[in-house]
Amino acid sequence: MNIDGQVLHRFAKSLWGLNRSITGDGVRKTLKEIKAVIPNLEIHEVPSGTKVFDWTVPKEWHVKEAYIIDPDGKKICDFKENNLHLVGYSHSVNKSVPLQELQYNLHSLPNQPNAIPYVTSYYSKNWGFCISHQQREKLKQGNYKVFIDSELFDGNLTYGELIIEGESKKEIFISSYICHPSMANNELSGPVVSTHIAKNILLKKNIYYTYRFVFIPETIGSITYLSKNLEILKKNIFAGFNLTCIGDERNYSYLPSRMGNSISDQVIKHVLSFVDPNYKSFDWSERGSDERQYCAPGIDLPVASIMRTKYGEYPEYHTSLDNLDNVVTPDGLFGGFKVVDKCLNLLENNGYPITKVLCEPQLGKRGLYPNLSAKKDYQKTNLIMDFLTWSDGKKSILEISDYLNQPMWKILEIVKILEESELIEIKK
Ligand SMILES: [Zn+2]
Repeated sequence: MNIDGQVLHRFAKSLWGLNRSITGDGVRKTLKEIKAVIPNLEIHEVPSGTKVFDWTVPKEWHVKEAYIIDPDGKKICDFKENNLHLVGYSHSVNKSVPLQELQYNLHSLPNQPNAIPYVTSYYSKNWGFCISHQQREKLKQGNYKVFIDSELFDGNLTYGELIIEGESKKEIFISSYICHPSMANNELSGPVVSTHIAKNILLKKNIYYTYRFVFIPETIGSITYLSKNLEILKKNIFAGFNLTCIGDERNYSYLPSRMGNSISDQVIKHVLSFVDPNYKSFDWSERGSDERQYCAPGIDLPVASIMRTKYGEYPEYHTSLDNLDNVVTPDGLFGGFKVVDKCLNLLENNGYPITKVLCEPQLGKRGLYPNLSAKKDYQKTNLIMDFLTWSDGKKSILEISDYLNQPMWKILEIVKILEESELIEIKK
């Protein structure tokens, strides 16, 4: 099956209604669907109460039902209709309260009156409902029956991990998160693109690098994963990408690793400068996703974020308006997929070229010099000569491409010709 925008969008739709959170069956069901696409995915469970660096794995959250009955006997804010209606990690409630009291536990957005906001309370005991502001304004005086049938219990935090072994032990790391309920760009786009990037790699015959994919809940999941795997991650990861908000059609954007100078940073900037010259480059001070953990002092992994429109930068962010109709589209998802795929392809083919001849080679006897002086042919010859003049084993193909202001995928055509003519060799 070919991967295209429709395949990605259909997969996002199949995951849409699951009640994802930082723990629980919504996470397990999401991972089960991902495993159906990439069967080697391993699913790990980490018990509640496990110490992970400065944090503790929280209790597991399970919701059976949640709704409010208004004074007319009408059911509103039904969790079954939209899981955003319930504040994440709400405890059980079964009581009748007057409207004034209910208001303390309602959340809405006056500036976006038709949106249901996304609210969670993972680490402090709470309950609440999220409602569109226009619906909230219409609530009349009277008693409201509040019913939440949920459980918080000692269970597990669940995450998925897939390692695809390449020729080298050096790893490319790809992380995305599976803790957001029914919202599309943040965050179904990341796991959807990541799943299909993994599937695409599984279809390849020869891969040089080993690939490590993780599907985790944000923050607590990355902290948990790092605390269990830090040594091997520090030893093997040479490039890494955090995929989030990667399915809309607005711009592309990038948030660097903490030091901003890793190979991951270099390759993203290179690809985006040719795919979308107007791409947005954020500063480390604007971080907000799992790069916060991956690049923390002492962890220091070379992980940068690839995004289309960044979290917090689009009006539908963290509301019911972040959907699969207007925000995340087949073209948006496929654009994100292609950028990630390009970054990985370039890393796979990157290396340090070394010329095998002293002084300039005689291109004519190898058929690489134009017989007739046509301008078009000279451009290619000039590119060959420019590439050769930097083939001293010190600059990578990616760095030479940047220097020559040419997309590396075009330079790789030159590399192929020069390798076939035995004029260079590539040192990894
Ligand atoms: Zn979010």
